[in-house]
Amino acid sequence: MNSQIGKRIVFKKRLKRSIEFMYEVILYYNFHPIEEPEIFCKTHKKWLKEENLKGRVYISSEGINGTLGGTREKIQKYREFLWGIDGFADTEFKTDEYETVPFAKLICKVRQEIVAIHYDGLNTKDGGHYLAPKQWRNVIENGEDYVMIDVRNNYESKVGHFEGAIKPDVENFFDFPGWLDEAEKEIPKDKKVLMYCTGGIRCEKFSVLMKQKGWEDVNQLHGGILKYAKEEGGKHFKGKCFVFDDRLVVPVNKETLEPIAQCEITGKPADSYINCANMECNKLFICSEEGAQILEGCCSEECRQSDFKRPFDAENAFRPFRKWYNYFDDSFKQRELQK
Ligand SMILES: [Zn+2]
Repeated sequence: MNSQIGKRIVFKKRLKRSIEFMYEVILYYNFHPIEEPEIFCKTHKKWLKEENLKGRVYISSEGINGTLGGTREKIQKYREFLWGIDGFADTEFKTDEYETVPFAKLICKVRQEIVAIHYDGLNTKDGGHYLAPKQWRNVIENGEDYVMIDVRNNYESKVGHFEGAIKPDVENFFDFPGWLDEAEKEIPKDKKVLMYCTGGIRCEKFSVLMKQKGWEDVNQLHGGILKYAKEEGGKHFKGKCFVFDDRLVVPVNKETLEPIAQCEITGKPADSYINCANMECNKLFICSEEGAQILEGCCSEECRQSDFKRPFDAENAFRPFRKWYNYFDDSFKQRELQK
């Protein structure tokens, strides 16, 4: 190895180790009714802005759902801020440490639902039975008879899932009621149902729906994959966990880190996602470093030849793209904006 490069890598590694745990990423939700979401949201957003926290927070009359990144101190300050609000003292946080803040900006807005299933009349108080990570693992290891459902989208379960789980081929959470109509015949109503998602929020609604439809023994992984990874070392989970921030995937089971998915260009094992470098396409796809080199970060040869291709930067191929206008000069920008 070239000694200069060698030195640089060693330095980078050292640097990485020392800054590794400076930042925290949290994921949380609380189905506590909010009477005036607009006002609540305004106050919340102001507070987050002042503290320079980045991430995404959705607020609705049904509660709050968020993911934020910042320094340890700021994140702790936020936890205390939220716990201090009437009705939110019991909010649970899933916490990860990371070397940077994996969000480019702050989004804090009012939505119809904090997690959109588009199905009326689901009261989250009527959800399934919570299984703590340890209990979940016990059910798996005791060889009980159950059916396990991955309550996430197809591109999430593709890079990682629990062994033996049903992985519905849906692109949105709100496609789940339709999927259940189809699957209804195949899952006996007296069968023990286990379900999981990333942090637990989707199960809060989907478990209610399953119970409404007649399944009796409905169980959900409390705190989702992320909490399970922390507490049970991700045992029985294969691959990685998709997350909705700039990291895109995070490790779950430290014992088996090999990718379970394939690079869409080379066909070799891979689990990193990138957006196609052709801005008109922007497709999210699984791509290895080798694959990214071959098609310059694009999903196809056609995209590689597009006029709207972002310049290829091998070093940062796996970092999320900046807004398209960062890549072009003013005249291009003007032309595009006029379209
Ligand atoms: Zn493409």
